[in-house]
Amino acid sequence: MAATPEQPAPATPRRKAGRHRGEGQWALGHHTPLNGNEQFKKDDDSLNVRTRIETIYSKRGFDSIDPNDLRGRMRWWGLYTQRKPGIDGGKTAVLEPEELDDRYFMLRVRIDGGRLTTAQLRAIGEVSQKYARGTADVTDRQNIQLHWIRIEDVPAIWQKLEAVGLSTTEACGDCPRVIIGSPVAGIAADEIIDGTPAVDEIHDRYIGSKEFSNLPRKFKTAISGSPVQDVVHEINDIAFVGVVHPEHGPGFDLWVGGGLSTNPRLAERLGAWVPLDEVADVWAGVVGIFRDYGYRRLRTRARLKFLMADWGPVKFRQVLEDEYLKRPLLDGPAPEQPSSRWRDHVGVHQQQDGRFYVGFAPRVGRVDGPTLSKIADLAAAHGSDRLRTTVEQKMLILDVEPDRIDSLSAGLEELGFQVKPSPFRRGTMACTGIEFCKLAIVETKARGASLIDELERRLPEFEEPLTININGCPNACARIQTADIGLKGQLMLDDEGNQVEGYQVHLGGALGLEAGFGRKVRGLKVTSDELPDYVERVLGNFQKEREEDER
Ligand code: SF4
Repeated sequence: MAATPEQPAPATPRRKAGRHRGEGQWALGHHTPLNGNEQFKKDDDSLNVRTRIETIYSKRGFDSIDPNDLRGRMRWWGLYTQRKPGIDGGKTAVLEPEELDDRYFMLRVRIDGGRLTTAQLRAIGEVSQKYARGTADVTDRQNIQLHWIRIEDVPAIWQKLEAVGLSTTEACGDCPRVIIGSPVAGIAADEIIDGTPAVDEIHDRYIGSKEFSNLPRKFKTAISGSPVQDVVHEINDIAFVGVVHPEHGPGFDLWVGGGLSTNPRLAERLGAWVPLDEVADVWAGVVGIFRDYGYRRLRTRARLKFLMADWGPVKFRQVLEDEYLKRPLLDGPAPEQPSSRWRDHVGVHQQQDGRFYVGFAPRVGRVDGPTLSKIADLAAAHGSDRLRTTVEQKMLILDVEPDRIDSLSAGLEELGFQVKPSPFRRGTMACTGIEFCKLAIVETKARGASLIDELERRLPEFEEPLTININGCPNACARIQTADIGLKGQLMLDDEGNQVEGYQVHLGGALGLEAGFGRKVRGLKVTSDELPDYVERVLGNFQKEREEDER
């Protein structure tokens, strides 16, 4: 089903809020924890685990970690246990969580607004090399994730990251996650409004604050004043999208209640225009509603989208105004359609100040520690101190003088990155997958990388914007429902009846111009080995049979 910003996708049928009194909503007086997660969050604020990591666990080792901290509260500091190596996807659902746990951690570094200095990137590169076996992945929420982290090293890692202004605070957990921001905020020549002050204000006032450290589930934020609408605002819990009000000028259109995974749902507009200096207050009001009215009984119904589905945008706005802001919001117009099919800023583009930014494409977000340090050195050698990450697992180097662009592009090429990548390299994303993720059923990163190579070899002339998103399980970390070709990892039988890795195919999803979820093609599954043949066939048919301008 397609939807435009003017005509958001129809919500799932609304149910009467009164039916949900037993959902564990605090505002309705239901404070008794209704599941294990609610219990451990009530027992001790999850942010407090940092002290125990610093004073006990890092000194006494992995076996000293309280299970509720290990599989619960440590997430609030960006730490998840990673998957024990060598356990195949068939065991994912049948083993107990502790049997899948490795004694090493994934550590997520939050990069609000995707903004990095060369010193920060170098620090992540050094941490990666010293403590993470050189691993580093750029995620589709602008973060960088490291693997193979030992609990003993976590305090030293924090020290190193925090010395350059980075943190892992609330990078995971039931709390406000990284604030996604336009990667070209403050520099793009066509910018409607720079959302950076709002990103910073929310971060400084609320991240790491106990006011919002116990939410029903994760809470995702996106802010962009770019006409490209480059923050996947449709699938965030809250999004502020740049728009010009006819009387008040540039500000933001407020969207609430998007999310993927179970019951994917596009965010809905509240029809409200928010000026830059009120974004943080409105954000806090919406998070307050989620904290107080959000459903806490079932984890699968705890995201804000379920409350939004029941309330609808009119009631949601009313509660926000009456109970949280204590004032009405201004009505405002819908944003224009995004100005480009590609929203990743890859390539060479002029900034407001006449200099250029250069966007380049790692393959499926995979980099490594030494390479991150080399990217930082390369940027510095070309007069830049600033970089950005994107929600497509890409990176930008900012502030490049025109006469340095060719040399910088050549340097990136030498590091294995392309400034003019094929649509396959540009448009393919993959989640962490079975290499490290405990929920994974199949491999994703290496599969995605080899698929790109194969498609580049087979279809050198293909130039259409295209997205291929690969998930290692039925979750939605790589946003499969919003891709032209979405691949959901699962085990299947091949022609000889052997159990092999494969994918359920979803076709025709999109965000931006024609936002909507891809259709699961009934019964259409491909084995990993058949994947290049399958994608080549789909693209061949598309080229043959497409109507003019059809995606
Ligand atoms: Fe793990 Fe599944 Fe998310 Fe991939 S989609 S990172 S396999 S939970």
